[in-house]
Amino acid sequence: MTGGNLTRDEAAERARLLTAEHYAVELDLTRGDTTFGSKSTITFRCSEPGAATFVDLLAPAVRSVTLNGAALDPAEVFDGARVHLSGLRAENVVVIDADAAYSRTGEGLHRFVDPVDGEVYTYTQFEPADSRRLFANFEQPDLKAVFEFAIKAPQDWGVWSNSPLDAASDTGDGSTTHYFGPTKPISTYITAVVAGPYHFVEDDHTVTLPDGASLDIPIGAMVRKSLAPYFDAEAILDVTRRGLDFYHRIFDYPYPFGNYHSAFVPEYNLGAMENPGLVTFNERLVFRSKTTDASYQGRANTIMHEMAHMWFGDLVTMKWWDDLWLKESFADFMGAYALTHATRWEHAWVSFANGRKAWAYRQDQLPTTHPIVADITDLEDARLNFDGITYAKGASVLKQLAAYVGEDAFLEGARRYFKRHAFGNTTLDDLLAALEETSGRDLKAWSKAWLETAGVNTLTAEIQTGADGVVTAAAITQSAVPEFPTLRPHRIAVGCYSPNPATGAVELVERIELDVDGARTELPQLVGKPRPGLVLLNDQDLTYAKIRFTPAELDAFERGGIAALPDSMARALAWSGVWHMTRDAVMSGRRFIAIVLRNIEAETDISVVQNLLRQVRVVRGDYLDPAHRPAADATISQRLWELLAGAPAGSDHQVAFAYGAVRAASQDSDFAKIQALLSGELSFDGLTVDQDLRWAIIEVLAAEGLDDDGVLSDGEAASDDTADGRRHRAAARAARPLAEAKAEAWRLVVETPDQPNDLIGAVLGEFYQVGADELAEPYVEPYFEALATVWAERSIQNAERIVSGGYPWPLTSPDLLARTDAWLASDAAKAPALRRLVLEARDDAARALRARECDRNA
Ligand SMILES: [Zn+2]
Repeated sequence: MTGGNLTRDEAAERARLLTAEHYAVELDLTRGDTTFGSKSTITFRCSEPGAATFVDLLAPAVRSVTLNGAALDPAEVFDGARVHLSGLRAENVVVIDADAAYSRTGEGLHRFVDPVDGEVYTYTQFEPADSRRLFANFEQPDLKAVFEFAIKAPQDWGVWSNSPLDAASDTGDGSTTHYFGPTKPISTYITAVVAGPYHFVEDDHTVTLPDGASLDIPIGAMVRKSLAPYFDAEAILDVTRRGLDFYHRIFDYPYPFGNYHSAFVPEYNLGAMENPGLVTFNERLVFRSKTTDASYQGRANTIMHEMAHMWFGDLVTMKWWDDLWLKESFADFMGAYALTHATRWEHAWVSFANGRKAWAYRQDQLPTTHPIVADITDLEDARLNFDGITYAKGASVLKQLAAYVGEDAFLEGARRYFKRHAFGNTTLDDLLAALEETSGRDLKAWSKAWLETAGVNTLTAEIQTGADGVVTAAAITQSAVPEFPTLRPHRIAVGCYSPNPATGAVELVERIELDVDGARTELPQLVGKPRPGLVLLNDQDLTYAKIRFTPAELDAFERGGIAALPDSMARALAWSGVWHMTRDAVMSGRRFIAIVLRNIEAETDISVVQNLLRQVRVVRGDYLDPAHRPAADATISQRLWELLAGAPAGSDHQVAFAYGAVRAASQDSDFAKIQALLSGELSFDGLTVDQDLRWAIIEVLAAEGLDDDGVLSDGEAASDDTADGRRHRAAARAARPLAEAKAEAWRLVVETPDQPNDLIGAVLGEFYQVGADELAEPYVEPYFEALATVWAERSIQNAERIVSGGYPWPLTSPDLLARTDAWLASDAAKAPALRRLVLEARDDAARALRARECDRNA
């Protein structure tokens, strides 16, 4: 669309020229299924009277435009993405009345019809720049303003926005108009509307401020009616209360946005969004089936992450998308930090080490990685920057910063930053200035090494011992890859673990904290002592770096050496180390599987257990030499059935191993067993084969060719006639090993426009199967041929899922890399964001080839 891709330069010029003051936004949600009324009255100042500017708006039709009382011709001033205004005065009022469109892809005002009861639910999602799909505005973070929403909706609907409801009046035609009070000055991307007959649970919360005063915050949580039976609102509100108390204790700035409502919404593209006063969450965080504590922890982490944004992001906002990391890194760090201090999940950093950090390491080793502080020249760039670098690497680096300057100085810096920049916009320098004041450290060099360069370092212990096993020399070496050669200063701990000679139990003998810098850092503390059984670099996970183990240490792991480590963080780092050695093709996939299967039973942290099961699946499909796969499959599946049988009844481990065994099914006997689980002929004490587990079984059976006529998935969808059930049915149909099943799935998600993103993800998640080369082969050319069209015509969220999920990875081979390179060299590969996604898929394939080679030769 012409002019839709706002550039940084345009935004800077508009911010120089304009001051946005006030928006009155009137929406009419009673005009049918496809469009709604959207009238935006913007009051703004201009520093250069006579100048021209534009208002952003993505809408099918503009009814009228009035600037300072004069009517303008919409046909002349509206180009489909912008309303052009000229002859501005010092003080201006523009009124833009439009017909805006509901979204089916979760961008703008999404409209969902619940198949269970036919009820209609709507909600908004804007970041980075989709509020212009709801109402005309200046769509950039640094033109903050006060917003007042008036929303007309069917009488039986609830309506929520950022600020508390002021009044509601019946319109006499079966509708009600809801008037919301003025917001504080906020950015357009965090304005929000949720409207529909949601099931709403509300309560009050009072926080005590440091000066003893109290602040009342009405809280509430909502979900669509058909999910109400599964809605554990009390648990959600409990975490909300704990978060509000905690952040008031450490941030020392009273929550400025009135109420705090949480909306769990359908077909949501992301985990959650931090709209002030009205946080939206993916309704998958409302669990229909039994799930493990890792899911509850993950949800609590998300609640804490979004709440941290009320201060970092909403109160103080980045100037432009270059500094998106400022808010995302901080919120991601705070998610885990708040869990450890304010909830029962006191080991949240362990899951962070295994989960979020793995995401960061993976992304940072792709050829498309970038510095945490990114160079974002326009909105298309901005959209792709919501990635593992911005969130998880940023958070990991802030954790290192907190270790480097000390936690007190870190938090005091944050407090000063909030007070100094409240309701304003900032860049990296503003945060560094506050942290330098409170820590007394010069952070320029630190920022350069950590924030302004890309790539991950590898730390290796080099230890020499004499014949008596006593250490004669010890050092830590640091390396980097040639493309990203920066070596960095690391504050780390080194844990020395050895068996107690009397009991045999592995114990921490000594922990040394030190600064590592440059290519080699001596470790004299170890010299003259017996060599520890395990020298664990980055114990406690203070820094962001990969670690390596010696062959002797790996041998010990294969004999149960990880399970023997006394604390869960040390184990998490050992797990992370062996995972990286496998991905980097310095240790075989077979060895990784052997280590996991030997040690997993003793792992207490359920999020780590589930992560290991996922990694085993990846190794099995991508990193094993295909010739080794059948033997590995048999070993994995046999071990998982054993683990399932041995898990305590009703435990989280039982649930995790049940899903693990189902997904690892590979032998005829396995499929017979999971069919028996489904029919109830096989059962495990304490294990309920509930709806999610049933679908997992059906998807596996379908992929194996045991539901070719679709009877199983159709029958299940008939008894689970919900949005979830429909999605699972489509996924199971796509999994079937039939040419016509693949053709049907391809038509559904690649060739049919505007599909819900979660449907595309689910279908493409099952479309390709490990080893099913002949079924993937016919989609190589259609995939590459479709890319440019998909990118041009589909919403970015649709397109991203198709580009990444449609890559024919089962055919990983030098031929596939060559075909990908040919596409990359073609004219179709011009769009940078599209190119980036394909480069990443190619890199995964290239990495898999290296790992297979290693596994073949091991
Ligand atoms: Zn966030």
